[in-house]
Amino acid sequence: MAHDGRVSGPVSTDSAVTSDGPGSGLEVLEPREAQVGPMTVQRVLPRRQRRTVGAWCFVDLFGPALVDEAAGIDIGPHPHTGLHTVTYLLDGQVLHRDSLGSEQVITPGQVNLMTAGSGVVHAEEPTGHYRGALHGVQLWVAQPESTRHGGAAFEHHPELPQVDVGDAQATLLVGELANAVSPARQDTPLLGADLRLQPGSTTIPLRSTYEHLVVVLAGHVQVDGQPVATAAYLGLGREQVELTAPEQATVLLLGGEPLGEELLMWWNFVGRSRDELVQAARQWAADDVDRFGRVSTNLGRVAAPPTPWGTS
Ligand code: MN
Repeated sequence: MAHDGRVSGPVSTDSAVTSDGPGSGLEVLEPREAQVGPMTVQRVLPRRQRRTVGAWCFVDLFGPALVDEAAGIDIGPHPHTGLHTVTYLLDGQVLHRDSLGSEQVITPGQVNLMTAGSGVVHAEEPTGHYRGALHGVQLWVAQPESTRHGGAAFEHHPELPQVDVGDAQATLLVGELANAVSPARQDTPLLGADLRLQPGSTTIPLRSTYEHLVVVLAGHVQVDGQPVATAAYLGLGREQVELTAPEQATVLLLGGEPLGEELLMWWNFVGRSRDELVQAARQWAADDVDRFGRVSTNLGRVAAPPTPWGTS
């Protein structure tokens, strides 16, 4: 979600800077609001002070919001390059279609993972019959140099491994925790886990070679004793984190090895240079089917905004 032409990813020159390096310690991140069609989303990454966590480079939280005839996910065909999209719902349903011919409804507890490689197009739509709450996340993972020029792909994982970690129940979206391993693709070492917290404190083991982001999806949470409204970054070298909740709460624990590559993100593209991103925008504008393909949908194609660097 979160990719209509006006709001997708960083669109200002100010935002379109290269990624920062890994840090240490705990940083509380304040999200900013963005409007995606009728929905208000909370954008946790990228933030000015922190662009990436491992290879995770985009974190949008949407809902909980009511979906009905007038409101919901309704995002027409738009392109991506150089990233994976990871979609995960706590509530509701979304229909994914892409230029590979995929047509897949996602429901809570499942993962859709789309790999853009050199180019893919997808649309995200209401299922047409669902009425009720919609609550979830859409995440992007930057692909490394070794795969980012490669082919597009789509995976749907209807069942994910679950494991108890301390007093929390974890569902593995990506990567491994407490010997539970997600079947989802990872091109660089990554972790993505849904943690259901019980009232009280619990200690979650971390890999010291990863940096991490704790994202609060529901409830009130303290991270190492510090209240965190939405998200906290944890730097390299940590063996564990203590999560405390007065009542049941849900957090997303993201992590990964620092990518070690300078990224340039703009609109729905992740690249390494302005020229690459301008070329992708031009080819999308020119409806370059060889690069991006086509999606079968009734929704209208989303146009890219002007690039912040001009088009010459
Ligand atoms: Mn998208």
